[in-house]
Amino acid sequence: MKKNWLYFPVVAAFFMVSGCDQHNQSAGDSALVLEGRTMGTFWRISLAGVDESRKESLQKAAQQLLDSDDRELSTWKDDSVISRFNQYRGSEPQPISDNMADIVTMSLRIGQKTAGKMDITVGPLVNLWGFGPAKQPLATPSQAQIDAARALTGLQHLRVIQRSEGAYLQKDLPGLYVDLSTMGEGFATDHLARLMEKEGINNYLVSVGGAVLTRGKNAEDKPWKVAIQKPTDKENAVQAVVDLQGHGISTSGSYRNYYELDGKRISHIIDPTTGRPIQHKLVSATVIATTALEADGWDTGLMVLGEEQAKALALRENLAVYLIEKQGDGFSSWMSPQFKAFILPQQE
Ligand code: ADP
Ligand code: MG
Repeated sequence: MKKNWLYFPVVAAFFMVSGCDQHNQSAGDSALVLEGRTMGTFWRISLAGVDESRKESLQKAAQQLLDSDDRELSTWKDDSVISRFNQYRGSEPQPISDNMADIVTMSLRIGQKTAGKMDITVGPLVNLWGFGPAKQPLATPSQAQIDAARALTGLQHLRVIQRSEGAYLQKDLPGLYVDLSTMGEGFATDHLARLMEKEGINNYLVSVGGAVLTRGKNAEDKPWKVAIQKPTDKENAVQAVVDLQGHGISTSGSYRNYYELDGKRISHIIDPTTGRPIQHKLVSATVIATTALEADGWDTGLMVLGEEQAKALALRENLAVYLIEKQGDGFSSWMSPQFKAFILPQQE
């Protein structure tokens, strides 16, 4: 998992999420803050009511956990579990961890609900367009190249098998390439939360890249505040502030990770149906769900669907969704009824 590196200084009085990476926050004064790098982005934990003396060991435990997730899930590492599955050309079930089974199962479920728009087998297309470990193309890929890459994709070729001794992953297309990049941050966020629970900590804000999960209260004994950033690179302008109430949130955005090719803006989110980067007016999709993993799956699916279909799906599935669309020179926003329940009035 690898992203463009962008980092903003701590300025806001709340935690900010946005597509692609995480930002600035002092999530409540005097909180104990741990942070580091993983999966080509940043992770951060803010803790309330935890003694400073625990900082070093918690910091180390979190980093170790994330490093081991990355070794399992990253398509940027040739010897990760997922890369070895991708290199394997057979169709025998391959043993995987319960964690990986959870990620793939959730991905397949959301894939189905988004009519295949959220597709973790989209890897060959991601690579073709230069957002995977392969280099950026010098020219727009031809239709023949797109068709060839598309022929190697499809969720119907992948399945998780649960047996008494453990979980397995199986493919029936030798060239299938599974790319878990879009789920990695959400999964890692939940994993950090589980680590905090194991450590007996229940007032925390954890985040990896564009995914966040909070529980309990901040150091001021108030709900953790999470801000959704306005779609501009300029400063940390706040679009909306939410109290997650123990949920996970994730934002996917097309406005940060892109490059220009033949005069066109090429987004890192690919529509598996056309085999091409998305082009519609939706600039970001933010989802709140029970877990950050689930939120991270939906946000990508909604981004691919585009504004109209994303709204319809949010309403149909009762999802808590916040969309930002490009409108002329500016932006407009939309939220589902479920999302409204999380919104805090903006004071600062
Ligand atoms: P964002 O950076 O906007 O938060 P993510 O990092 O969650 O988005 O996901 C983007 C990555 O997901 C891409 O870089 C690519 O590896 C992969 N990807 C692109 N298109 C799709 C898709 N349709 N379904 C699943 N994964 C995708
Ligand atoms: Mg996502």
